Amino acid sequence: MADDGLRPETLAAHATGVVDGATGAIIPPIHPSTTFERDADLGYSRGRCYSRADNPTYDSAADTLTALEGGAQTLLFASGMAAANAVFLALSPGDHVLVPKVMYWALRAWLHGFATRWGLVVEGVDTTDLGAVRAALRPGRTKLIWVESPANPLWQVSDIAVLADLAHAAGAKLAVDSTIATPVLTRPLALGADIVMHSATKYLNGHSDVIAGTLTTATRDEFWGRIKANQIQGGAVPGPFEAWLLQRGLRTLFPRVRWQSASALDLAERLSAHPAVTEVLYPGLPAFSGHDLARRQMVGGFGGMLSIRVGGGEVAAIAVAAKTQVWKRATSLGGVESLIEHRASMEGPDSPVPADLLRLSVGLEAVQDLYADLDRALSANAGV
Ligand code: PLP
Repeated sequence: MADDGLRPETLAAHATGVVDGATGAIIPPIHPSTTFERDADLGYSRGRCYSRADNPTYDSAADTLTALEGGAQTLLFASGMAAANAVFLALSPGDHVLVPKVMYWALRAWLHGFATRWGLVVEGVDTTDLGAVRAALRPGRTKLIWVESPANPLWQVSDIAVLADLAHAAGAKLAVDSTIATPVLTRPLALGADIVMHSATKYLNGHSDVIAGTLTTATRDEFWGRIKANQIQGGAVPGPFEAWLLQRGLRTLFPRVRWQSASALDLAERLSAHPAVTEVLYPGLPAFSGHDLARRQMVGGFGGMLSIRVGGGEVAAIAVAAKTQVWKRATSLGGVESLIEHRASMEGPDSPVPADLLRLSVGLEAVQDLYADLDRALSANAGV
């Protein structure tokens, strides 16, 4: 339960519940202004100066997320990538960082490309293997462990509480990309993480019509101050309309994610028995290697993302995606419409993703329609 006694579902539905004092409007206005009036004595007694630093339209989404994550402050960014970059760029050249081997591919590419050239010592490690993380830590030199849980697109679950302890014992911070879990299913800060990041483009907004990212910190420390200063100076902020859409999306986060998790579990179970599917990757399945940890760490569901491996290899997988009608062939995830994607061809040659894998983002359609559409495509393809 939140500090003021309201449950997270209520906080999200009200998106902090601030009623506009002047008009009584229960939905906050959009403030397109890029600049704010200065006092005669040169101060800014109303707290705003310029929208690259801050805009009142950010407050609703940022404060809602701070409450849902149980943090001290949230910053909204122009994208999930901008939010993630801001964490790494608050480190110093020469710092050692541990990052997952399986993670959102564009961030992995940025880390091993730009961030490495910039001077970070980036080391990939299997973050589900705590022994491997322990062995890779360089106390005093490792400044950050980055973890994504469940990790896109194989959905492995990493132990956030233990990783936080390992990071802190080595003098490092733990940052968690919690895009897939959302605060509905996992609260990384309560497990000991220092920073939680979201691609708000996905479940937080939930309607495939906003690119945005967020960072929420456990404490407003010196590291957070650097992140904030970099954001203001670098200008990686969302527009007011995007921030407004994000607060609107957050209001329905809980029912969306719970519905999507229930449908994903149902699909994962049914697809596990499908003769044209060789493997289903989903943390909610007892046979999945991270299932026990997922049961402890994820509360109330296992998320709306799963992947299937198709008998017949890459050609068969691409053919299945070509035949679905309810499932739309598109990248991204977390929207109300279900999406299917051949992931290896998206990620390119360095991808750890098997070529026969299809990634499924479960939307809000009737699960019977979703299964029937997949079954038709899989069966037509495999002749089963
Ligand atoms: N993290 C995860 C897990 C993602 O899936 C994505 C995008 O797909 C990102 C980060 C990057 O977010 P954005 O596309 O908003 O920059």
